[in-house]
Amino acid sequence: MISPAKAAESIRSLWIGADLPLIGRRRERRMRLLAGLLMVAMGCVWGIVFSLRGSWAIVLMDLALILSGLGVLALSLKHHPRTANLLLFATLILVIVGSTLVLDAPTAAAPRATHLYLLPLAVAAVMAFRDEPLWLRHGVALVCLTLFACLAASPWSPLREYNLPDPLRTVGSWVQSLAAMAMLFMLLHILQTDAVERLQLDQELRTALQEEQFVLHYQPQLDIHGRVFGAEVLLRWQHPQRGLLPPGHFIEHAEKTGFIIPLGAWVLRKTCAQLQAWSIDPAFRELQLAVNISQNQMRQAAFVPELLAIIDGQPHIARHLELELTETLIIRDVAELTAKMATLVEHGVRFSLDDFGTGFSSLAHLKNLPLSKLKIDRSFVSDVLTDDSSKAIVSTVITLGQSLGMSVVAEGVETQQQQRFLLEHGCTQFQGYLFSKPLPLEAFVAYVRQQGTPDAVAQQPSAEVELPRQS
Ligand code: C2E
Ligand code: MG
Ligand code: MG
Repeated sequence: MISPAKAAESIRSLWIGADLPLIGRRRERRMRLLAGLLMVAMGCVWGIVFSLRGSWAIVLMDLALILSGLGVLALSLKHHPRTANLLLFATLILVIVGSTLVLDAPTAAAPRATHLYLLPLAVAAVMAFRDEPLWLRHGVALVCLTLFACLAASPWSPLREYNLPDPLRTVGSWVQSLAAMAMLFMLLHILQTDAVERLQLDQELRTALQEEQFVLHYQPQLDIHGRVFGAEVLLRWQHPQRGLLPPGHFIEHAEKTGFIIPLGAWVLRKTCAQLQAWSIDPAFRELQLAVNISQNQMRQAAFVPELLAIIDGQPHIARHLELELTETLIIRDVAELTAKMATLVEHGVRFSLDDFGTGFSSLAHLKNLPLSKLKIDRSFVSDVLTDDSSKAIVSTVITLGQSLGMSVVAEGVETQQQQRFLLEHGCTQFQGYLFSKPLPLEAFVAYVRQQGTPDAVAQQPSAEVELPRQS
């Protein structure tokens, strides 16, 4: 049995969106949840009112409103904001237009007011589809505004028999107008708060880079013997007030504003400095460090010369540096990307494909780009024991990597059963919480000393094959 306190805490966390990063995103989800709840509530209230009046066609519309509201709630909680937004806006537009035409035919005593809700809806569309292409963001807003103009100008109503009596509608007009204007003001206020918060985050990020508030964490990558052959370098922000923040809180914003370029350069400089420091320590000199490279960073004309300047003719650094690209990155400007990758590969740098299987890269990309590693995405690994398609994807990716001469790393390995499945299907490199979470430098160093490196295995040929120990 779940205790009431636990249930209340779960509801609170769903509502505040504790699993969501940006402040703006949390607010957006809360508004979507609120809209879903309102749709269900309105559908119930109007459904009861119109079923008492025997207006079954309208009751049917209210039922559709309830179902859509439940759909919006479910989609929001399951992290499908785009589909939730599309369902929400399509339903609201239909309901507002339908109610305006059917219930709100203008008369001399009571003008129409329901169509006023299309104004806040247009503003909400600009906010909700902020990250979508321009045609969608402005398209939905434009549909709302056009319908608003048409309904405001037209006295047409197909079903006047459903109309409420004039005195009731006159009061209703006032209530609807005030409610629609209040919504408009609230949305404009949120829009402005959002803009201020983004600006603030922008300034905070710049200060953070100047004051070295960023830190690198290292998530060990292990071989079949449980030895650490390298690590993925993961960025963290030691925020003076909010504590240690994972990249989900700021990377997306950094990518949108272009801040990722100086930030990414800082990560590369730090990583190369670490490789250089380890180059004189036999216990660490063979460790490889994998750095995530964002789309904007790689597209930059200066990316290759700047990285070569950081490496500065030190083959040891280049040979132990791996750059992780994502599938979204490799599907555009392939010729230019191949040339950049080839130059770096000539200097000894290697490339891996991160989150493989979640994007749309084709086999041609895999064949033509100088990639040396595929990283199976965490989502497939986590479902590998329960979902047949994840099983098929994982085993296919392993075989594919092997036949293309690439190594394959499984990301997000959390249980021994998952690791066993991966081992049975030929995967020999692992990364995940089963072994270790991303660690600060000192803890990573201690972990490497505890687990050993492949070099250490070579020095001790009699060492027994052992499954990696759980940290
Ligand atoms: P990614 O490159 O796919 O990194 C792996 C993420 O999965 C990391 O999250 C890691 O902590 C998490 N992870 C690893 N093993 C497990 C596991 O067993 N279970 C679970 N639940 N999670 C696991 P993190 O550190 O929050 O990073 C998230 C993303 O942020 C990274 O995804 C990467 O795309 C991006 N990122 C991190 N550092 C940088 C950076 O320096 N530059 C750029 N451009 N992106 C970065
Ligand atoms: Mg990665
Ligand atoms: Mg990944």
